[in-house]
Amino acid sequence: MSQLPDVLVVGAGIIGAACADALAARGLRVTVVERDAVGSGATAAGMGHLVAMDDSAAELALSAHSLELWNELVAGEPQRHEYARCGTIWVAADDEELAAAQAKGLAMQAHGLECRLLDAPALYALEPQLRPGLAGGLLVRGDGLVYPPKSARLMLDRAKARGATLASGEVVALEEGAVRLADGTRMAAGQVVLAAGTRCLALAPELPLRPKKGHVMITDRYPGFIRHQLVELGYIKSAHASDGDSVAFNLQPRPTGQVLVGSSRQFDTMDLAAEPRMMARMLKRAVEFAPALAGLNILRCWTGLRAASPDGLPLIGPDPSRRNVWLATGHEGLGITTSLATAELLAAQMAGGQAAIDAQPYLPSRFAGQGRAYA
Ligand SMILES: Cc1cc2nc3c(=O)[nH]c(=O)nc-3n(C[C@H](O)[C@H](O)[C@H](O)COP(=O)(O)OP(=O)(O)OC[C@H]3O[C@@H](n4cnc5c(N)ncnc54)[C@H](O)[C@@H]3O)c2cc1C
Repeated sequence: MSQLPDVLVVGAGIIGAACADALAARGLRVTVVERDAVGSGATAAGMGHLVAMDDSAAELALSAHSLELWNELVAGEPQRHEYARCGTIWVAADDEELAAAQAKGLAMQAHGLECRLLDAPALYALEPQLRPGLAGGLLVRGDGLVYPPKSARLMLDRAKARGATLASGEVVALEEGAVRLADGTRMAAGQVVLAAGTRCLALAPELPLRPKKGHVMITDRYPGFIRHQLVELGYIKSAHASDGDSVAFNLQPRPTGQVLVGSSRQFDTMDLAAEPRMMARMLKRAVEFAPALAGLNILRCWTGLRAASPDGLPLIGPDPSRRNVWLATGHEGLGITTSLATAELLAAQMAGGQAAIDAQPYLPSRFAGQGRAYA
């Protein structure tokens, strides 16, 4: 019997791990190749916020469906994923943002997500640490959080239990029906899935991806300081910016009682050094919304690189310029949330079967003919 894997997945971040699991569940022989530790890339840097995002209809469909899949995954064992159903409050600073919150709530409700528009008294009743003078917010109850590298490990463990294998090595080239590792080894496979995050660019430089650097800080333990993930509605403007540096107020209550402080975005750098200048901007913004944060101890700061596509949606499907190569990348700041729906979409395309949502908006071929990408 041939030992050739049906599928070789490059990268064991949360996307590669979820894809390996979904492919193995469909009976394919899967090998995952990882150059470092499982979940050590952007996955380890992520805040782990499982959040419905509605910047586009396709983003809402993908995130809402993935949240359903997360609910199934964590059911019965939430503590293994360090899962908490904290909900998200989108904080509206003024009446204009409150109107935006209302529109957001309507879009989400149309997808079956449970939302509640908060006036100012309701907002302060839920989150008394917020500064006075805010207009209100939108509570999205079903959002939650996990510890991403742990979830990636659990997904990969389940894939292994279904017969997948994990190989250690750095892929340096894609070849017809194979990959080449840094030590010269050639690993053959029927199909290859590129799930290497921003590092996909090293293997397929024409991909329409840009690295977007982000910083995250974590405090000491202050149980109950906040209870929901708090995000300013202005976050959307910051997340959409296509150039320059930006920060937005984004706080998360970890189950440990610690508070995660996000978020920042910087383009086109692969330098992972934490930058005091960006940390200072993030903390200033956070303290503007939650003044008592100024009295908490920050323990650590780290950074990571999001793989951003031109339209903010991931690339899930066949690589238009390489035979038997599939892409699962470009998840930007939402890949923890959308990992499970990504895996379902990819596995349905590769192994047959139904996915609950339409694959079309995420197909890499949508960029065909645009500039350098897929020229
Ligand atoms: C600061 C920050 C905060 C974020 N917060 C959130 C959040 O709250 N919620 C959310 O949903 N998303 C969040 N994200 C986004 C999320 O973290 C990413 O979208 C997601 O982790 C991408 O996963 P991945 O598996 O594609 O990439 P990665 O996690 O980077 O995994 C790629 C893997 O491939 C391996 N690899 C790379 N090249 C090779 C090679 N040549 N050969 C072998 N292996 C290779 C790497 O070592 C790595 O393990 C955040 C991201 C950042 C940076």
